[in-house]
This record gives sequence, C-alpha cells and structure tokens, in this order.
Amino acid sequence: MEYNEAVVDYWRDHYIDEKTKLCVLCANTGLFNITNARSLSGIISVRVDYCICKTGQAMRNAYIKGRQLGKNHYYLNLGGEIDDKR
Ligand SMILES: [Zn+2]
Repeated sequence: MEYNEAVVDYWRDHYIDEKTKLCVLCANTGLFNITNARSLSGIISVRVDYCICKTGQAMRNAYIKGRQLGKNHYYLNLGGEIDDKR
C-alpha cells in the first residue's frame, strides 16, 4: 500500500489518541465529517472526506484506482472534486 509518508509521520505525531491509539480525526473509519463546521470568517463547510491517516489514504487510493479501472461504483466519491491526476 502506498502512503504519503510525510503526511503519515505528521498524522502519527499529532493525531493519534494516546489512550485509545485511534485516529482523533476519524476514529479509524478513514472518513471525517466536517459538515456544518464554521471557519472563523463564517464560511460553513459541507464536506465529508477521506482522512489523512493510513486508513483514509488507503480508502482514497482505492477510490482513485477504482476510478482508473472504471469501477467507481465500488468506492466512495467524497469531497466532490477528487482528481486522480494528483
Ligand atoms: Zn483518520
């Protein structure tokens, strides 16, 4: 499995709960939901997206590979604008 190791290192340093060892962003589901989160300037988010943790990265990679293989129906298209050219 390919991961962005720099992101994994950052996630490991800052986003793992010491007691539970779960990702504090997604509880190891691979998805986070910031629907209705509001920025300091008042902008409201409407996103559900893949997490930066290894589970989220694996899910995003599976989606991108599924899209390349024409099997998108097996995977979630989250965030609205996932670009497989990235
Ligand atoms: Zn996570």
